[in-house]
Amino acid sequence: MPASHLPSDVLDRLQSKTPLLWLNEAQGTPLPEGHPPLELIEQAQARMSRCAPLLAVLFPELAESGGHIESDLEPSPVLKQMLGFATPDDSAWFLKRDDALPVAGSIKARGGFHEVLAIAEKIALDESLLATNGDRLVLASPAAKALFSQYSVAVGSTGNLGLSIGIMAAALGFDAVVHMSADAKEWKKARLRARGVRVVEHEGDYAEAVAAGRAQAQALPRSHFVDDERSDLLFFGYAASASHLASQLTNAGRRVDASSPLFVYLPCGVGGAPGGITYGLKALFGDHVHCFFAEPTASPCMLVQLASGVDAPVSVYDIGLDNRTDADGLAVGQASHLVAPLMASQLAGVFTVDDDELFLNLHALNASMGAQVEPSAAAGVRGPQWLCNSADGIGYTRKHGLDMRRATHVIWSTGGSLVPADALEAFQQRANALAQQAGRAFHAD
Ligand SMILES: *Cc1c(COP(=O)(O)O)cnc(C)c1O
Repeated sequence: MPASHLPSDVLDRLQSKTPLLWLNEAQGTPLPEGHPPLELIEQAQARMSRCAPLLAVLFPELAESGGHIESDLEPSPVLKQMLGFATPDDSAWFLKRDDALPVAGSIKARGGFHEVLAIAEKIALDESLLATNGDRLVLASPAAKALFSQYSVAVGSTGNLGLSIGIMAAALGFDAVVHMSADAKEWKKARLRARGVRVVEHEGDYAEAVAAGRAQAQALPRSHFVDDERSDLLFFGYAASASHLASQLTNAGRRVDASSPLFVYLPCGVGGAPGGITYGLKALFGDHVHCFFAEPTASPCMLVQLASGVDAPVSVYDIGLDNRTDADGLAVGQASHLVAPLMASQLAGVFTVDDDELFLNLHALNASMGAQVEPSAAAGVRGPQWLCNSADGIGYTRKHGLDMRRATHVIWSTGGSLVPADALEAFQQRANALAQQAGRAFHAD
């Protein structure tokens, strides 16, 4: 059984669901042969730029940003203080607000919109509706809508990926189909239907919904299935975020170099979103950026895969974990087989969080900066503490000779703004109750 490749101390902590920081000893080894070409990062950036005017037409809420799908990098000095870093130094904390990404309300807008736009461009080019360097605004024309209505774009998802793919595909006029398990949240189905998306419900769990969706889509001509586990187009949509983050850091007066390291903490489900972002950031900053994934203690699929050190797929079920967590965006049993081999070379490490801590993190984000996010989005909040306060974290920073007094910490928040207010309120109440219980009730002012 592949799980036996896990070092026994790591295995013990995983099985007992004790939060841990796992460090990737293979970081810095060369990317595997045949890794996706780095030019694709720039191509994805170029696609999102040339499609921005189109997006501004399709979605009135994007008029202000000129159609750019981007999020704020919000300085978080109060959060830093609240979590025990009160001594002033030149380190700085930021929250990357993908929870507020326009239109789709989560990090999935990056990958999902990029993939649907790429499909639309390809069909329009093939059908001579669009010239290679032509204005992408033509993709919003009645002729394009008529063309796209003959094609379907399908995805299997109970959550944010379905929202992002469904909303964009329907806006362009595709027959947009989201396959969901019957237990998916009612509000998600309602939001999709309101945008003109067909929601197909399946008995059984999420994996069965995806499999059924894939089979249905493959049986149809003129249909494209968005595959969360294998898609380059999703991956590079995420990777395209790196250059904007770099300019945000510059604008915030933060340098990234040998004496000023950058730490990025990314919630990980199947690995596509955080993996793509890591790929993009590594291409820009090389050894000066240190990317860590945050995973639930019940679903540490990337940790299990990488720590096993084998190519064969290893799942959290193989070591007896149940993959049940309130972080529904991160409840994934098996890491992406496209992404894991890349992260074996690039990822600094993974830390795990239990559900109580997710809610304490939600409380800290809300109390310090008024942010209301979904539980998955709060997984990375303790990243700086793992690095600065744990023996393993301190070992890492010493080994790499990093001056933590000059570090920049970016906590990537990944979803929440499409979650209905009453659900967000319920999260917050549980968060407040836990914070009180833990004797860590924070006061905003
Ligand atoms: C999907 C998702 C993630 C993780 O992305 P993966 O590509 O599955 O690793 C993190 N947070 C939220 C809110 C998500 O929806």
